[in-house]
Amino acid sequence: MKKYFLLTPGPTPVPPEVASAEAQPILHHRTTEFGKIFIDVIDGMKYVFQTKNDVLMVTGSGTAAMEASVVNLLSAGDEVIVASCGNFGDRWENICNAYGVKVHKVAVEWGQAINPVDIEEILKKNKNIKAVFTTHTETSTGIVNDIETIGKIVKDTEAVLVVDTVSGLVNQKFLTDDWYVDVAVTGSQKGLMSPPGLSFVTVSPKAWQLVEKSTLPKFYFDFKRMRKSIDNKETPFTPAVSLVVAIHKAIEMIKEKTLEKIWYDTEKLAKAVRAAVKSMGLKIFCDENHISNIVTPISMPEGVDGQKVVKTLREEFGISIAGGQSKLKGKIVRIAHMGYIDKTDLVVGISFLELVLRRFGVNIEVGSGVKTFQEVLEAK
Ligand SMILES: *Cc1c(COP(=O)(O)O)cnc(C)c1O
Repeated sequence: MKKYFLLTPGPTPVPPEVASAEAQPILHHRTTEFGKIFIDVIDGMKYVFQTKNDVLMVTGSGTAAMEASVVNLLSAGDEVIVASCGNFGDRWENICNAYGVKVHKVAVEWGQAINPVDIEEILKKNKNIKAVFTTHTETSTGIVNDIETIGKIVKDTEAVLVVDTVSGLVNQKFLTDDWYVDVAVTGSQKGLMSPPGLSFVTVSPKAWQLVEKSTLPKFYFDFKRMRKSIDNKETPFTPAVSLVVAIHKAIEMIKEKTLEKIWYDTEKLAKAVRAAVKSMGLKIFCDENHISNIVTPISMPEGVDGQKVVKTLREEFGISIAGGQSKLKGKIVRIAHMGYIDKTDLVVGISFLELVLRRFGVNIEVGSGVKTFQEVLEAK
């Protein structure tokens, strides 16, 4: 018997209300009953994305919606900018490479934020750029990028702005329309506190113009077919019915709490976790001037293997936190504070991180992280 705590930046824990919605008997996807739920989800996602643009649903995880964006907007040989500050930014480059799209890369050291001016310079020099791909919250390093400024730069060019907000949406402020984001992509298993397997894409009128010209191959991911189906309150193929019903409930809960209140609470939690980590004598991995509120990236002290810390927490105590990805493997661990993850979960995470690190020989005073966590949360 083991009790599980999921403190990873996706998947995130699912509230019981959402889990029981998911467990309802399967509705046929061509019924009016399901059609109503589906359209409610599409409309609800417009609130979550803060957009009046079209919202499309893709059956598949966040990466499916990323790939769908590339194949629907572009043609082979098109030139794009990929502005990356970590593993997920690099994913845009990998997808573009797979389809023969020419990438101009804007990169910074992992742990730093993208400098919008670097994007501006390429756009000024190269009028052929069709799209700028970037990441809102870079989950691998903990950074939040300044999408608002990037949006102002891209909006007056021919290019469209495509933003991965898979981990940021819901918990970190994101305003699709006000920030001139043409295509925003998210997934079900992070801030949306639902099971993995569904993703959503917003498409602006400027992006639809590119879709009209795109010749990259697509069938299942065809945006135009998706849009047409929505007019009939349907999806082109069999959607993940139970996930749609689950997200329907999750959106209801998000709307009830309001995005503003969620952003506020998440920021408060993030501050408390960061302070707790520091009072344990540990270092925050990324540039704190650009740190996101959804995940805390923690550098491991010399000689401590982060992978082993993650493994011990998971196997012995049932607590899942994330390790480092790619070149950060073993060097950092990450504790998420998004979706249904709450202060009560985090107190468990901080407390046992302390315990496990002490076992690995790190000199941490018992309770120091938990003490600070409480103090910061209670501070007026
Ligand atoms: C989780 C995540 C994704 C998508 O990953 P999937 O495993 O395909 O859902 C994309 N971008 C970011 C920033 C993420 O955090």
